[in-house]
Amino acid sequence: MPMHSTYREVEKKRHIISLQQMAVCAYEADMTIMQASLQKKYIMTTVELIEEARKVVGEYRLGSDEYRAGTVGAALLSAQGNVYTGISIDVACGIGFCAEHSAIAQMLKNRETKIEMIVATNSESIIPPCGRCRELMFQIDCKNINTKVYLSEEKYMILDKLLPIRWEPSR
Ligand SMILES: [Zn+2]
Repeated sequence: MPMHSTYREVEKKRHIISLQQMAVCAYEADMTIMQASLQKKYIMTTVELIEEARKVVGEYRLGSDEYRAGTVGAALLSAQGNVYTGISIDVACGIGFCAEHSAIAQMLKNRETKIEMIVATNSESIIPPCGRCRELMFQIDCKNINTKVYLSEEKYMILDKLLPIRWEPSR
């Protein structure tokens, strides 16, 4: 028995190792497919997301007669495939907030920050987000520049186009 492996033996060992690696890769690929199927995301359509936003629309009077909530409803689909909704709060001095704002707050409660698509609507039509909501989407996660923001039932623009010059803190 020679002390050193012959060239052919080395090649044979290499071949065995590469087959073992392939087996590991195949196993990992199977696991990935299995995990993907376990975490299978529900792909929501725009129509369904708009429907989710409309479900929460319904203006009602708050404790003070002149103030209202629920005039606008918003729904967003997160990158993890979850849907979050929110309603607007209309009170004095601009201290209320938009429906998108409260939908985002609900998402953050679940420790998510990335939005796939978002829509806000009143009882009649889709409403594009105000400047503050556009900034909020960007500031909670800069990857949200690719968020699809619905401007009507048929049309969306990515946030990057709606917020071309963004606020940056001076550092
Ligand atoms: Zn807003």
